[in-house]
Amino acid sequence: MSSQENSNEKSGRRNFLKKSAAIGLGAALGVTNFFQPRRALAQINIPSASMPRRPFGRSGIMVSTLSLGGMFDILNNRLMLAKALEWGINYWDTAEGYGGGRSEEGIGLWFARKPETRKEVFLVTKLSPRRGADFTKRLDESLKRLHTDYLDMLFVHGIRSISELGSDMESWAQAMKKSGKIRLFGFSTHSNMEECLEGAAGLPWIDGIMFTYNYRLMHEPRMKAAVEACHRAGIGLTAMKTQGGGQIRSDSDAEIEMAGRFLKKGFSDYQAKLMAVWNDKRIASICSQMPNLTILAVNGTAAVDQTRLSRADNTLLARYDCETRSDYCAGCDRLCSEALPIEMPIGDVMRSLMYARSYQDLGLARLTFNELPARTRAELARLDFGEAEKSCPRNLPIGRLMREALEILT
Ligand code: SF4
Repeated sequence: MSSQENSNEKSGRRNFLKKSAAIGLGAALGVTNFFQPRRALAQINIPSASMPRRPFGRSGIMVSTLSLGGMFDILNNRLMLAKALEWGINYWDTAEGYGGGRSEEGIGLWFARKPETRKEVFLVTKLSPRRGADFTKRLDESLKRLHTDYLDMLFVHGIRSISELGSDMESWAQAMKKSGKIRLFGFSTHSNMEECLEGAAGLPWIDGIMFTYNYRLMHEPRMKAAVEACHRAGIGLTAMKTQGGGQIRSDSDAEIEMAGRFLKKGFSDYQAKLMAVWNDKRIASICSQMPNLTILAVNGTAAVDQTRLSRADNTLLARYDCETRSDYCAGCDRLCSEALPIEMPIGDVMRSLMYARSYQDLGLARLTFNELPARTRAELARLDFGEAEKSCPRNLPIGRLMREALEILT
């Protein structure tokens, strides 16, 4: 980065922080609930400021280090898009399945009214291989909903193994790039992330990956090596699920200490977990669900102030990870699922549970859970998970959690 860029970034941060005082950091820090009353939000004075940007892999496209995750009703909350752009959040993420297409429609309505902003935005959507192989038709439908004739990035949504992306997919991706419908191609993954990243590093036609990455996983040796391999290969990396399961226990000593320590320093443990990921400069952006202005302010403030985590802060996060290790599912389903007589995406069920318990978003939890095949859901009640539990490096009580998922998500 040139000294001019450095100085611009610093000045942007100072400007952002100064204006953020209008929101009241104290109010922002206490927010963990995504469902803030609209009347209260109307009083928030969102500042205009630029976000730090990083190059998205070898493409060199500069993206905001904070990405607006589109898993909310954008159709009825287009103010969020206006404010995101005003703040310099130019990386917008959505998927064909979010809100049954309403997320894409909401972004499309924005571009229909403000076509001049399309070039400012790094626009990403995702197609799920579990919805069928008719990718060209569905890509065209997404483009229509998004009111654009091209995507900056298309992700194949939620792969569990790099073998899902064979030579047919490579040919299709190259054809779509040639047609101008997509600029870049890649995948997202919540399961067996390390294996998917290792495989992608050897595939020159993969331009970007969105993957589960947080203060818990980023220090694991295999994950570290996989991220480095992708970074060296020039793949643009986007982190998601950066809260590491969110608040999953309230009786951890480290958690109590963490809250006090970070608050004294002027940020929340929520923001600290974002900062930990931003400290890894190989990560171009963090994709975060920000369905209201308060969350946007909290995350934006952390984005411009990402340098304040000390070694002691990181040690405390590591201690918290250690104390709550057996409460967090790391998405390594190959280990537990292969111990079962039938295919069972345990990691996906765990993720649905996390949406319900940690995000307190029962709607999203049920939506994710109901995307699993009916047969899979039916097997949850019948299967003995004893062998899977023996294979779990985190000693999760898988059987009990699967039954809990059935109880609260059906
Ligand atoms: S239950 Fe255990 S083995 Fe299975 S995905 Fe989660 S952490 Fe990995």
